[in-house]
Amino acid sequence: MLPQGGFELHTPHEHAAKYAVAPDFAVSFSHSSRYMPPTAPAGMPCVAVVYARLIDLEGNDRGIKSLIVPLHDGKNMTPGVTSKLLPPRGGSRPVNHSLTTFNHVRLTPTALLGTDAPASPDEFFHAIHRVVVGGLTMAAVTLPALRTSAFIAGRYSLRRKTLDYKGREIPIITFQTQKIPVLTAVAQAFAMDAFLDWGIQMFTSKEVKDERVKHAIASLVKTVVVGHTLDAGYELADRCGAQGLFEVNQITGNFNDLRGAAIAEGDILVVAIRLATELLLERYAVPPSSNPTSLLARHELSLFAELQAQLRAMPSHRAPDFDTQNLPSCVPLVTAIGHRMAYDAAVSAGMDAGLLALYEVSCIKADAAWYVENTEITRVGIREMEARAVEAVFPRLEEFLEALDVEPYITAPIISEEKWSRYVNELQTFSSPDASSRSVLGPGGMLSSKL
Ligand SMILES: Cc1cc2nc3c(=O)[nH]c(=O)nc-3n(C[C@H](O)[C@H](O)[C@H](O)COP(=O)(O)OP(=O)(O)OC[C@H]3O[C@@H](n4cnc5c(N)ncnc54)[C@H](O)[C@@H]3O)c2cc1C
Repeated sequence: MLPQGGFELHTPHEHAAKYAVAPDFAVSFSHSSRYMPPTAPAGMPCVAVVYARLIDLEGNDRGIKSLIVPLHDGKNMTPGVTSKLLPPRGGSRPVNHSLTTFNHVRLTPTALLGTDAPASPDEFFHAIHRVVVGGLTMAAVTLPALRTSAFIAGRYSLRRKTLDYKGREIPIITFQTQKIPVLTAVAQAFAMDAFLDWGIQMFTSKEVKDERVKHAIASLVKTVVVGHTLDAGYELADRCGAQGLFEVNQITGNFNDLRGAAIAEGDILVVAIRLATELLLERYAVPPSSNPTSLLARHELSLFAELQAQLRAMPSHRAPDFDTQNLPSCVPLVTAIGHRMAYDAAVSAGMDAGLLALYEVSCIKADAAWYVENTEITRVGIREMEARAVEAVFPRLEEFLEALDVEPYITAPIISEEKWSRYVNELQTFSSPDASSRSVLGPGGMLSSKL
């Protein structure tokens, strides 16, 4: 706050890069060093909502407040605002991530969003409530990557041929080690579609009145959709061999972009720790299962009971034992709840029974030890469940790939011979004048199957 009115925004030291408010005479503040928002000029004028501590004229800390701050006019930075362009993240598409600092930036009284009264305990969390919407949005932007990756790996696995032991050409989708990841990703994509729809409906429903439950639903949807998408992206890229490594084939590019989605709008691990702790403390509860006898519902309840019993044996959730015993189980618990919810949503949406069975077994595999310890299912039994589910849906692979409804968005050339030939023709080429009359790579037929 300034005596003449308005505010001065200042980063007290470099470790506070991104936010902090203090008048000329104020003390400095301790903030963790954070970066990311793309604040460098890129043609269009840009403002930021900056969260910073407000220090009044008497030097009192009035808590964290939000301010609208003009960053640049599209070309020139606002005096006092510095944006340092960070290098590319590596592997992902560039977004101009930056490190932003403020050096005694003068702001008018209207820059302050809300009042300058001392902040109430929950004011900051109310001010950042849109982060919750951001969590759900992260799930929504992630899902197309799961669908496209499943489609690309599926089509390529149908197209890519190898030789069987009799020397006959067979597509690599013939192998169970190809069918499982491709069909699992397809099943997960359909289940996530139903789960996201359910999550959005719950989030916007007037019947869910408790904001904490809405936050929980957004966190659960994000954890599961991003989890499946990253796991599938990693596996499906590998199952396309060398082709999977290339950005042009879309899977790794999506994967690298979406690693950011797991962190932005709430790091999945840290969000899971908070959510699991609050649920275990019974501060609120998420909607129960609509299929309480399902394997996934039993798994969820059992994990919950196990962690709650551990917590109840401790003096409080602040005890060091909570850190050592419960913290590592928070993501597994949140994932278990989310898997159960996704399964329930898929059942309610009438998802194909074969794909539903495959989705269920993909979740069982995420914690096979629990099922072996607590049910009649054995390790071999899980593999057999999976084999049966794969066998049931494999004959309809083409139909399911079509139903993913992503073909217009696919630029990966590996999905068809025609696209691949066109792509090869466009590659930068080094040759000699008589190259067309010779072949150094052998018979033309093998050339396409090698690529
Ligand atoms: C693609 C992308 C875009 C972004 N865009 C923006 C933006 O536009 N605006 C903006 O303000 N920010 C943005 N961010 C920043 C984002 O909000 C933070 O990166 C995120 O909140 C995590 O904070 P951090 O990176 O400081 O990680 P840290 O807080 O340093 O966490 C790193 C790791 O430390 C451990 N850890 C941290 N805290 C705990 C805890 N309490 N308990 C247990 N373990 C813990 C976890 O392993 C965690 O993964 C963006 C980030 C990304 C990746």
